[in-house]
Amino acid sequence: MTADARYLAFKIKTSCPHCGNPLVVNGPMKSTLCTSCNTPVRLRPAMWSSMLGDAERSALKLSMGEGYASQIMTRGFTISVECVKANFVCTDCEQEWDLDAVATGTDGTFKCPHCGHESDTYPAPGWLTAVIPTASQVFFAERSVASKEGQIAADLNDASSKPIVFSCPQCAGSLKLTKESGRTVSCSFCDADVYLPDGLWAKLHPVKKAEHWCMRFAGDYHALKSALKARKRREKEQKKAEKKARNEQ
Ligand SMILES: [Zn+2]
Ligand SMILES: [Zn+2]
Ligand SMILES: [Zn+2]
Repeated sequence: MTADARYLAFKIKTSCPHCGNPLVVNGPMKSTLCTSCNTPVRLRPAMWSSMLGDAERSALKLSMGEGYASQIMTRGFTISVECVKANFVCTDCEQEWDLDAVATGTDGTFKCPHCGHESDTYPAPGWLTAVIPTASQVFFAERSVASKEGQIAADLNDASSKPIVFSCPQCAGSLKLTKESGRTVSCSFCDADVYLPDGLWAKLHPVKKAEHWCMRFAGDYHALKSALKARKRREKEQKKAEKKARNEQ
């Protein structure tokens, strides 16, 4: 295992740019679904670069158990980032969890060596390492499930995927609602537009809590970052040269 691996726990919250309700970001993902308004929210790599890059740079100065909280304003989002440099403790048996034992690149679950409690792990996605080259392995985080190009499927808990039956306030016809239903549904019996009450809406879209998730960082941040910059510069120059060559033909 990489000798210089360091671990940071994150708790990230922001608000939905569409409806203004709280939005939790329980893992590194390019897009998440707002549970309040059911709209996908894009979290661009540049935003992740400020969220995790700042943390990773200051982590070099943090001692074990130390952390900080910051507010980042970027692209119309105000993001609160809590970050702790920590050893991880199993939520079941409360014994220390040795994350070094999980090889970088592992994609699946890993078990607490003491009690067998399982949790999720996956390698840092490529779009993330393109901005934070030291990001290496993700633990305890949600996964984003990519379906169609650029579209991220709702990774809502499937507890709410059973349809809920609701009586139309106009005609008392029974309407079947799922988490895909809009806030206003049109009654299939009397054609009235029915605005779903808050309680019902909340039941279809349970509010997610911000949870700690963890990232392993490895390698020399500054060295990797300048290598990345140099590579980008070379690619740019190469493209330029190719374009020039094409134009001269
Ligand atoms: Zn929203
Ligand atoms: Zn355990
Ligand atoms: Zn009706």
